Amino acid sequence: MSLSDPDLLVIGAGPAGLALAAASCELGLRTTLVAPRPTAPWEANYGSWEADLTGISAPVHQRWSRARVCGEGWSKSLDRAYVQLDRRQLQQGLLERALAAGLVLENGTAASASHGPDGSELLLSDARSLRGRVLVDCGGHRATLVQPGQPVASAFQLAWGHRIRVKLHPWSPQEMVLMDWTRGPDEAPGPPTFLYVMPFDEQHLFVEETVLAARLPPDPGFLQARLQARLERLGLEAGAVEEVERCVIPMDTPRPPPQRVLALGGAAGMVHPATGYSVATSLRLAPLLARAIASGLEHGGPDEAARLGWETLWPGPRVDAATVLRFGLEAILSLDADGTDRFFRAFFEPPPEAWAPMLSSESTARQLAQVMGRMFLSADMPLRLALSRAGMSAEGLLAFRAMLCAHSPAQDREYG
Ligand SMILES: Cc1cc2nc3c(=O)[nH]c(=O)nc-3n(C[C@H](O)[C@H](O)[C@H](O)COP(=O)(O)OP(=O)(O)OC[C@H]3O[C@@H](n4cnc5c(N)ncnc54)[C@H](O)[C@@H]3O)c2cc1C
Repeated sequence: MSLSDPDLLVIGAGPAGLALAAASCELGLRTTLVAPRPTAPWEANYGSWEADLTGISAPVHQRWSRARVCGEGWSKSLDRAYVQLDRRQLQQGLLERALAAGLVLENGTAASASHGPDGSELLLSDARSLRGRVLVDCGGHRATLVQPGQPVASAFQLAWGHRIRVKLHPWSPQEMVLMDWTRGPDEAPGPPTFLYVMPFDEQHLFVEETVLAARLPPDPGFLQARLQARLERLGLEAGAVEEVERCVIPMDTPRPPPQRVLALGGAAGMVHPATGYSVATSLRLAPLLARAIASGLEHGGPDEAARLGWETLWPGPRVDAATVLRFGLEAILSLDADGTDRFFRAFFEPPPEAWAPMLSSESTARQLAQVMGRMFLSADMPLRLALSRAGMSAEGLLAFRAMLCAHSPAQDREYG
């Protein structure tokens, strides 16, 4: 390593990569970020519960004070605010902060890396190489450098969404639709799907048909057809499609084992197994990871930075909580369309305090166990049987162990 080599090489310019680049540059770490097109505009419509953004600086494009969930013969308005992030402002803001604090941008695709005691050498696909003391893979779900955890993901969330302009629609601009599980009379066979709606105003909407989780990702064309049929059922005259979103998110990517390459975001197994979300978690953890890297480099070197980094990303209570959430995913995967509908009816029945921990990435295994216990007791008999069967799976047994042996309440408090 030479004195001019950066402290940190960040791979990827999504929410995780840019959040980490901004935080590390502002801490004084010399940082280089490499991505095929580091300033290409982000395309996904990022949504989040407003509460999950507490303490995080994240620009909001639109806020809905309530969220609706409904299914066959039931409908409920949840008293919980939901937001769509302003992806342009978020991206621009992070880039500007990072560049103002000295970030160096490189166009390139990371291919492989080798490591020595003083730092790492990153080989790009065009045969150039870059050197840095610490490497952080923020390459998303298709990350190439970080060695993945085992077994690899086998459950996927899929969605097909349109931003559309219509003459008239039935939704209130104050309330978004988180999940509409109602089905059409002649629905084609396939996994259960729900409609997600962000009504921006009287004419502009984002509508998305989603498979919450499935083992074998169905053909996305199936989702497009279901969305079309649903909009027709709702009497929505197809207006202009202003944007199309296709989404495939691995839901059960395990946490990578601690190793010399660090990771953040999708690359670090940080997708929430029940929602598919990870942006709020990346924004929350980026400054903590930057501080851990700075401290490791100051007190030991690259190995110590990697050790502290993994400890920060995946402390024991977070590992326990992820194990319990993974079981929740397994339970959902075991349900058919009727079971899924009844599951969410029972899940959203009590006030938000009772179910919100299940949808947050900051909950502890104990909090999740309480939600699950309450859910089980309020479920009808067929649903209890289905949940009991899921409880007998390997994931169920691991989850029970995590709940029983969860880190102490004192640690829980620190973590929460
Ligand atoms: C359509 C869609 C909608 C989603 N909606 C939500 C949502 O509403 N809320 C939420 O929280 N989450 C959502 N997610 C899930 C998840 O939060 C996003 O996937 C998020 O973008 C992950 O951020 P990331 O920075 O980890 O990875 P990404 O955003 O995928 O960014 C990866 C970056 O790494 C670069 N890269 C990849 N490979 C290499 C390489 N070899 N070398 C160099 N650079 C590389 C890419 O070009 C890109 O810049 C959604 C995902 C999708 C696909």
